[in-house]
Amino acid sequence: MLPEVPVDAAVRTEALRRALALPPAEILARVEAVGLRGRGGQGRPVAEKWRLCLARPAGPKTVVLNALDADPRMPAAATLLAADPLGALEGLAIVARAVGATQGYVAVDRENPALQARLTEAIRAMGVALPLAVAPVEARFVCREDTALLASMAGRPTMSALTPPEPAERGFDGRPTVVHHAETLAQIAALFRADADSKAPGTKFFSVQGPVARPGLHELPLGTPLRTVLDDLCGGMAPGSTLKFVQVGGPNGPVLGPDELDVALDYGAFEACGRKLGSGSIEVLDQRTCAVDYAVRQMTFLEEASCGRCTMCREGSWQVRELLLDATQGKTRADDLETLGELATGMREGSLCSVGRTASDVATTVQAHFSDEFEQHMKRKKCPTLVCAKYATFHILPDKCTGCGECLPKCPVHAISGEPEFIHVIDQDICNQCAICEAVCRPIAGAVARAGTVKPQTPPEPVPVGSFKAKPAGLGGLGGLRRPPTSI
Ligand code: SF4
Ligand code: SF4
Ligand code: SF4
Repeated sequence: MLPEVPVDAAVRTEALRRALALPPAEILARVEAVGLRGRGGQGRPVAEKWRLCLARPAGPKTVVLNALDADPRMPAAATLLAADPLGALEGLAIVARAVGATQGYVAVDRENPALQARLTEAIRAMGVALPLAVAPVEARFVCREDTALLASMAGRPTMSALTPPEPAERGFDGRPTVVHHAETLAQIAALFRADADSKAPGTKFFSVQGPVARPGLHELPLGTPLRTVLDDLCGGMAPGSTLKFVQVGGPNGPVLGPDELDVALDYGAFEACGRKLGSGSIEVLDQRTCAVDYAVRQMTFLEEASCGRCTMCREGSWQVRELLLDATQGKTRADDLETLGELATGMREGSLCSVGRTASDVATTVQAHFSDEFEQHMKRKKCPTLVCAKYATFHILPDKCTGCGECLPKCPVHAISGEPEFIHVIDQDICNQCAICEAVCRPIAGAVARAGTVKPQTPPEPVPVGSFKAKPAGLGGLGGLRRPPTSI
């Protein structure tokens, strides 16, 4: 969809002219023949929306280009519209021809005036006889839902609405409105530039983040195995990292274990195992990731992303987050796992839109893959990765501490003792594992370490920097402490 060399202006003008000269039924047939699916996150067949719109009585109809990237890990619209804004606009003109729309809008983040100006310029440059206007909207995760995007366009709160009617039946201003993401529209334009007999399902952007050798954004044919993306395109895991799990499709996407990497990155293949390909973002996590803490972070994002319209999504995502957060802080109740399952079912069945229906998937799939790690947190109050601060102890490593004293005044419970040029010491009976000293020292000396059952040797009280000598394993005596020299 992103041409490796810019498409010649005459070639693209001619391709668009030919597409717009086709009868609407022929455009629809071509899109259906390749099984084109929406790329913005839902993966819905494009023709399905068009058919709903075409079934409406004749009258004014609208098409909308969604220029937002709802998933913060997937900059597909931003990349496309920066490199080739005409591609998505041409796609919009073709959709308008297919469904008989007489008005088009480009929904752009209202906080991004530069993109608004760029698209206004591109609309002028395209010169197609379809009235097009830029519509500034509130960029929120829930705008992956067409009803929420249209509400924002109309100046109403950015919230999803109950469907049916679908926007393609009754949308913006009460008119049948077909909304497509910029990536979907670029695919439509590319389809009508390609050979008319081509049955290729098209390409999709996949953005890979995390500890791989070469993270980045890739445009790949649909159906590429996930393993090929991680091993061949991204160069495998970064040195020192071992794959723990992968999350595909955004913060509400499912989690896959290392034994599931042969799955094809394709809408049908994901649906066949009860999952969604979503936005196409791929987050790679290594052995240092705590599964429970990861689920808490995703649920925090999703709880904030909820538009708040329905109780099961608004309260359910908060409850799931709180329950998981408690598990990272030693506050679990005996029936929490059961409650988690009940909340997830309630959210799936009782939420109004896909945001709430999928919000608990990350919690349930992480729990299914790492039930032992969940149990360690919930029953044995342990975090095997030591990411959860409440299950770790904090120690100042004597060979790294420079005695700068920066951490001492920051400790909220005065658990640190020391003076300038002395190795500082943490009193384990006072420390409340807030991790502030760790954050303070990280850029200075990285001297604060977390420990589980095996603790590092530290002096029992502050001693001059450089004077501490660790006790060889198995020896008794002074516990590795070399006393400061005393005057005779
Ligand atoms: S499921 Fe969530 S995002 Fe969707 S309408 Fe309900 S509260 Fe809003
Ligand atoms: S632990 Fe870090 S911040 Fe604290 S005194 Fe030592 S070097 Fe400075
Ligand atoms: S972890 Fe928090 S409470 Fe403990 S020593 Fe560090 S700053 Fe103080």
